[in-house]
Formats: sequence, structure tokens, C-alpha cells
Amino acid sequence: MLKHNEPMASHCSLRAGGLAQDFYTPESVTALVDFLKHTTQPLLFIGLGSNLLIRDQGFKGVVIKLTLLKSIHLDKTKITVDSGATLAKLSRFLLANNLYGGEFLSAIPGTVGGALAMNAGAFGAEFWSFVKQVTTLDNSGTIHQRQVEDFDIEYRKVTPHHTGECFVSATLNFNNPHSNQLIQDLLNKRNATQPIGLPSCGSVFKNPTGHYAAQLIEQAGLKGVCIGGACISTKHANFIINTNQASADDIENLILHIQQTVKLTANIDLETELKII
Ligand SMILES: Cc1cc2nc3c(=O)[nH]c(=O)nc-3n(C[C@H](O)[C@H](O)[C@H](O)COP(=O)(O)OP(=O)(O)OC[C@H]3O[C@@H](n4cnc5c(N)ncnc54)[C@H](O)[C@@H]3O)c2cc1C
Repeated sequence: MLKHNEPMASHCSLRAGGLAQDFYTPESVTALVDFLKHTTQPLLFIGLGSNLLIRDQGFKGVVIKLTLLKSIHLDKTKITVDSGATLAKLSRFLLANNLYGGEFLSAIPGTVGGALAMNAGAFGAEFWSFVKQVTTLDNSGTIHQRQVEDFDIEYRKVTPHHTGECFVSATLNFNNPHSNQLIQDLLNKRNATQPIGLPSCGSVFKNPTGHYAAQLIEQAGLKGVCIGGACISTKHANFIINTNQASADDIENLILHIQQTVKLTANIDLETELKII
């Protein structure tokens, strides 16, 4: 379905942001291929918007939300999953089929496409450790099979050698012999330390080598500081919460304030994990 002037605050977990000029939710890969063959506009592919902030000026192009492409297939231990499937669904699917290693995914509120783009990770595990191959689609609607070697994979950063392609699906291999993490334990751990349930994007900043961003922000005395409706969480200092109709500007200004303060107090440059468009 194609919509116009769609508020991106409705599609981003920070509940802030401007309008997408056009907004498309394809119901199949075939429909998406056909759409791409007929558009020349700038494109932005999204999943659940759990790591995304669209500036208040909006996006002049088409935002393509892939959450209707969400099937998962299993062939022995090889899983093929569409990029719009949620990580929670994938994690439940793995357990139901006695496949282990993906328990950490239950704690990350995004899609497979977002996890591929971000190399999402938690509790010491990272998504790309389980990737065997991915299917991508370029801006003109051509499908490609890409190997892991076609990407530079780092902590929360994925650089494709072939740019301008979105992730359509991934082939994964989860073959740990047994589970060593109980999903409920992981979720309890999360709930105890993070402001889960409030509008946020999870960790705003990457952890600099040898440091924790949350600790640096807390040591800079910033916990609880607000700009407009955007506040640094008092529970976890690396979370910004939209407490009261924050604009994207409020959030970005708070990010800048944190970066400048931590630079002054610790002489460390904090880099955002959040994608700002
Ligand atoms: C409460 C909370 C806790 C979180 N905890 C964690 C955590 O523990 N670990 C962690 O890594 N992250 C965490 N996050 C951040 C977020 O959930 C992850 O980064 C997730 O992988 C983003 O997935 P998404 O589908 O929401 O992506 P989006 O936010 O929609 O997009 C993120 C980026 O990926 C790109 N993208 C999305 N789909 C595609 C696609 N199909 N093809 C190409 N590019 C695409 C977008 O353009 C954008 O640049 C947390 C977020 C919240 C709100």
C-alpha cells in the first residue's frame, strides 16, 4: 500500500520525527521489485524503526517498510527468514525447533533487516555471527545473492561492498548444541536495568573501546537532563526517552549536548548508534 505524508513518529520507537513524502509497505517481494522498477525517488528501507530518527523536516522520497515480508522457512538447520520478520518471532521459531544460540534476539525489538543493517547484538552475541548468506535488492529492482565476505562487519556497523541495496532475506545457521541462556532470564535482566516500555531507541551511543557510554554520561552528571520533551533516562543513561511529545530536534539537540559534555569531562567522542536521517 502506498501512502503520502505519513508521520514517521508512528513508525519509530522514539515516537518523534517528520513526514515521509511517500510511504510504501510491500506485500510481496514481487510487488517490491515491480515498485522499484518504476520509481526514481530517494529510498529509505525500514523495519520497526527501533533505531531510527527522521528529522522534523521529513524524508523527501519513499520510505519502504518491510514488515509484511516476514516468513521463516527451515531446512534441517538452515533457516531462511524474510527481512521484515521480527527478532522476537525468529527467536521463538528457533526455540520451537530446538535450535539454539538465538536466545539473545528476544531482547532486541527490531526486524531481521534492521539487525542485518546494524549488526544488532546483545549479551555478548551478534547477529552476523549466524549469517550464511543474504538476498538483497538494488534500487532498480534486481535481486542479488551476497556472501558474508561482501560486507565489512564491525560492532554495530555493517559496510556493504555493493552499495544501494536493501536486505530482502537472510540464510542463518543456529546450531548450538543446547541453550545456555533462558529467554525469561534475559528479559528480566533487561527490565531491571533499562526503561523498557517507554518511547526510546535503546542505546543512543555505541560503547567507545574500553568504556561504557552509559557510565560516561552518568559520570558527566547528565542523568535526568532534558531538552524539550527529550530526557536522559534516570534508569539507564545511554537511553533518551521521549517523555512529552519531543520533536526530533529536541532529541538531536540532547544528543549533541551529551556529546559535547562527555568530550569536556572525559575527552571521549561518543558516536551514535541511532541512525538519524
Ligand atoms: C528498548 C530498545 C532496546 C534495544 N536493545 C538493543 C540491543 O540490545 N542491541 C541492539 O543491537 N540494538 C538494540 N536496540 C536497537 C534496535 O532494536 C536494533 O538496532 C534493531 O536491529 C533495529 O531493527 P529495526 O527493524 O527496528 O530497524 P530500523 O530502526 O527500522 O532501521 C535501522 C537501520 O537499518 C536500516 N534497515 C532496516 N531494515 C533494512 C533492510 N531491510 N535493508 C536495508 N537496511 C535496513 C534502516 O535504514 C536504518 O538505517 C534497541 C532498541 C530499543 C527501542
